[in-house]
Amino acid sequence: MRQLTIRNRLKDISGSKSGWTLFLDRDGVLNRRPGDAYVMHPDKFKWIPGSLEAMGIFPDFFDRIVVVTNQQGIGKGLMTEKELFQVHAHMLDDLKIRGGRIDAVYYASGLRHLDSFNRKPGAGMFMQAKGDFPEIDFRKSVMVGDSFSDMLIGYRLNMVTVFISTAKLFPRQYGYMADYQFYNLIALSDYIKKARTHSST
Ligand SMILES: [Mg+2]
Repeated sequence: MRQLTIRNRLKDISGSKSGWTLFLDRDGVLNRRPGDAYVMHPDKFKWIPGSLEAMGIFPDFFDRIVVVTNQQGIGKGLMTEKELFQVHAHMLDDLKIRGGRIDAVYYASGLRHLDSFNRKPGAGMFMQAKGDFPEIDFRKSVMVGDSFSDMLIGYRLNMVTVFISTAKLFPRQYGYMADYQFYNLIALSDYIKKARTHSST
């Protein structure tokens, strides 16, 4: 059973050197969801308005920022790893210009029915991150995503879960798993900024 005290934990983020980690889903959070297709070329990577700006602010709050993305287009043979890396190189270039930072990008390339460990809601990518950054504490981590699997793994690992959606109504089935809902990343960064201002006065 999850304790209710978790609900205000975004207020606990006390700036850089806070020990907090930000886990970000990619499609639908950083860039526009490509529908049924995959982002196979840098030109197809379209930032969601406000995301790039928010990424320039997050390093003020989080010690580590990592991306965890399911990309079974590779497993399906629709895109290559090299193409995925080119997309990510482009993403990181854009970020650098805005003062943003991503410490690592983890991707699960396996097929849905074959790779339940690495693909979200599996824990594989999170365990990899923990292996690379042993100081990661999932209870001092925020999982941001736009899908059920993002919320489920965040909930399972006891992270603070943030659901990104422009829907007005919070989907009922997400109720117990998602601690917060915001329209986009800039709304999340504004919230953390305000919460910190209030808690420090
Ligand atoms: Mg997504």
